[in-house]
Amino acid sequence: MTNNITLTMIKPDAVSKGYIGKILGEITEAGFAIAAMKLTQLTKADAERFYAEHKGKGFFDELVEFMTSGPIVAAVLKKENAVEDFRRLIGSTNPENAAEGTIRKKYAESMSKNAVHGSDSDASADREAHFHFADREIFA
Ligand code: ATP
Ligand code: MG
Repeated sequence: MTNNITLTMIKPDAVSKGYIGKILGEITEAGFAIAAMKLTQLTKADAERFYAEHKGKGFFDELVEFMTSGPIVAAVLKKENAVEDFRRLIGSTNPENAAEGTIRKKYAESMSKNAVHGSDSDASADREAHFHFADREIFA
């Protein structure tokens, strides 16, 4: 396992507001290359599996409901130190606490509708990349 990929999703709030282009612009300007990408919509079973680590938490049902509410953009991003650098680029989970200039500060509206996802470890990045894409679709 390497440290050069991360998995992002542009979440339904940001897609419905027309922010796909702006967010992809921020991501590529920051030095990430797109290694895989698609517009898709998660089913309830997909969202429950993707976010399985949060099952049982108070916000889980709301999270699944929101993440299945409309299309998302899923993408594998490539860059040295991708996971850590991407989480710095997107900012804190709660946009109220996100640093100036971060994607969540600019485009997120709340803790649940927070515009983007970023993997939290190299192991998660690998699992999440293969959740959305076949090996032959990942140009990493
Ligand atoms: P993500 O995994 O989407 O990149 P994250 O790693 O910053 O976000 P997690 O702790 O993994 O945050 O939570 C997953 C998602 O669940 C968050 O992005 C957020 O939308 C939602 N969430 C987390 N905590 C809460 C909460 N206390 N109230 C409402 N929603 C929450
Ligand atoms: Mg997370």
